[in-house]
Amino acid sequence: MKKRITAFRRLKQHHLEQLSEHFRVDYFPELDSPDDPAFREALREAHGLVGAGLPITPALLDDAPHLEAIASISVGVDNYPIDELTRRDILLCNTPDVLTETTADTGFALIMATARRVVELADFVRRGDWQASIGEAQFGSDVHGKTLGMVGLGRIGAAVARRGALGFGMPVLYSNASPKPELERELGARRRELDELLAEADFVCVTVPLTAETTHLFGAAQFARMKPSAIFVNIARGKVVDEPALIAALEAGEIRAAGLDVFAQEPLPADSPLPRMANVVALPHIGSATVETRDAMAQRAVDNIARALRGERPISLVNEAAWHARHD
Ligand code: NAP
Repeated sequence: MKKRITAFRRLKQHHLEQLSEHFRVDYFPELDSPDDPAFREALREAHGLVGAGLPITPALLDDAPHLEAIASISVGVDNYPIDELTRRDILLCNTPDVLTETTADTGFALIMATARRVVELADFVRRGDWQASIGEAQFGSDVHGKTLGMVGLGRIGAAVARRGALGFGMPVLYSNASPKPELERELGARRRELDELLAEADFVCVTVPLTAETTHLFGAAQFARMKPSAIFVNIARGKVVDEPALIAALEAGEIRAAGLDVFAQEPLPADSPLPRMANVVALPHIGSATVETRDAMAQRAVDNIARALRGERPISLVNEAAWHARHD
């Protein structure tokens, strides 16, 4: 009998066909709640789960007694109770590497857009307000040669730092859990305590994962340490930032601007002031959202789940201990 996979969101026909060759697939392309009765019913029979953007709770796992593996179509795994999955010997797989460069492009787009006020001034032209040569009130600030402070220097952080150092001649500072001697050699990056980095950087770009430790890593005290001319860019997760503190810092001129791809609540609530602030560029969580990269991520998730359910080691495994529990 074929093993069963419950899939939700973001799979294309060719991915579903690949899975259906070997597995029975229940597909929920429009799933908007984990409480959807048909989804819960499918989950009760599922050996594999594929999708993204849905918080997976222990209660939901209780309803999935046959689950062997989850393949998330994301690199971030903050939606999953990792310890709980490991306790139940359920493999968790993600999609690192294939989205690194695309997400770094998004980070750099936000650096450029905020510094040069691209969105604000494009809107100015669109409104028909360009009636004379622009003056200093609309000037931006340089990106090249300015100091780039990376908070998190993993795969995506390194790719942003490479763009800054090699493409724009930016000195790179970084704050990261572990030192990165290879990147220090390659890019001349220098490690700093977070507080020192905040005081020195012209751009602060966040690429840490969301964990208990990084939740609200940025609050009023951190924004107060930044230069008034500094620009804050977040392409990690919204909850790394205390959003009301960010809004207050932007309103008070404690920092100059923010480029944000991620928010505490997504989609952004209608009453959030962020999209209406002239010194904010807000994007709808598009870090990895190109046709090519989303396809590569889905393919990685399909390969991960197929391998896991065949008893082979997935390409990208998050909880090594669950693999050993199943296969040693
Ligand atoms: P990664 O390679 O694991 O890099 C994360 C880096 O953060 C690592 O270098 C890690 O240090 C460091 N770190 C972890 N906890 C830290 C802490 N408490 N303080 C300082 N540094 C810490 O992951 P990645 O592939 O670059 O992805 C990073 C994150 O980006 C993901 O988790 C995801 O949330 C986010 N993301 C967002 C989008 C988007 O659409 N906007 C797209 C992709 C990813 P070590 O090297 O010492 O472990």
